[in-house]
Amino acid sequence: MDKYLILVNESHPLGDDYIPEDLVDVMKMPPRHFYVFRSIQLDRQCFEAANRMFAQAEKDGLDAFILISGYRTRDYQTELYAGNKSGKVAKPGCSEHETGLAMDLDSPDGLDKKGPYYKWLVDNAADFGFILRYPAGRECVTHIPFEHWHWRYVGVEAAKEMKQKDLTLEEYTDPSIVRPDPYDLGFIFMSIYGHKMKGHWQEWPDIDLEELKKINPDTVGWVYMENTPINYPILYHEEYPEYYLCYNFSNEASVHGGVSMPRLPDDGIFILSAHHMKDVSMFMKLIEIKDKMTLDIHPEIYLNYEGTIYKATWFAALEKPYSEETLLPAGSGDEKRQLWLDKVKRISFLSNDIMPDVADKILICSTCNREHNGNLELYGVMKEEREH
Ligand SMILES: [Zn+2]
Repeated sequence: MDKYLILVNESHPLGDDYIPEDLVDVMKMPPRHFYVFRSIQLDRQCFEAANRMFAQAEKDGLDAFILISGYRTRDYQTELYAGNKSGKVAKPGCSEHETGLAMDLDSPDGLDKKGPYYKWLVDNAADFGFILRYPAGRECVTHIPFEHWHWRYVGVEAAKEMKQKDLTLEEYTDPSIVRPDPYDLGFIFMSIYGHKMKGHWQEWPDIDLEELKKINPDTVGWVYMENTPINYPILYHEEYPEYYLCYNFSNEASVHGGVSMPRLPDDGIFILSAHHMKDVSMFMKLIEIKDKMTLDIHPEIYLNYEGTIYKATWFAALEKPYSEETLLPAGSGDEKRQLWLDKVKRISFLSNDIMPDVADKILICSTCNREHNGNLELYGVMKEEREH
């Protein structure tokens, strides 16, 4: 088989004695048309193709691509894997970095997914034999979350065909793989909950958190909104607060991810965050509040947090740039909390006549607000429900 089409993943690990043949140290290969700050090895043909690609990028005005990772030895991958519990490091033998055919890239804008560097790669990399190896929305095939920095050399012909037919390397090398319909309910269910939920399905209001914790110990609650698909477990990953944006309840790579708490409730402020999906799942219905410009369309949301049931009623909606900190610093007293609540009301684009008291618990539900490069945040005042 063409060595440039080698498939490496958890079900196709490299042999224990695998060592790539023709590696070059890019530090010793001038003139380079990209930056590299340490000794990194790549397959010779991969390096040459990359250098041609970055030379073209230079001509197009993008002269500062940075190579941050290339070939990794088995020992190094073993070390990385052992030291990282984010789920984002492949098992030793299962990383294509061990072939010298994969590059992790960066750029002065942090390879911003909306920036010129990333866009240039998406438009041009295939012409030089590179593919975006782990695209968004194909986690069910690659079993790896979207990695916009990871580019794989497969050769020009294959790269162009894969781009044109929108195929992952898994599908290109195994035509028997059937791509799921992204709007199929069975697919959506599996993507959100994964195989561990089979036989343990729960629905509001009958939530047995103890059972869910046995399946995924990161479960801290459940969230439910009437007349919407929002009926999901809430997950909290202590080490990597963003873990559940790309992994589901069963800890599988997923385009949906889960509803997650970026931190545990602090000073009575509860934060939930989730994607909003075109298939209307996750927090899509929160976007509807913005689209219709009224908090009344879905006025309240229910929460079971560690066994206590709350109903939260929205009092404000904010559009927050990623850079802006709108949270109340921990340990702020009543006076500061009142000022913060006033500020939330003042800077909101949607509000009503509900004015929370400083003693009230506050729920913030957050989802990405793509066109504004920030988050949409809904603020609700929480009341404990007596009956359940
Ligand atoms: Zn990588």
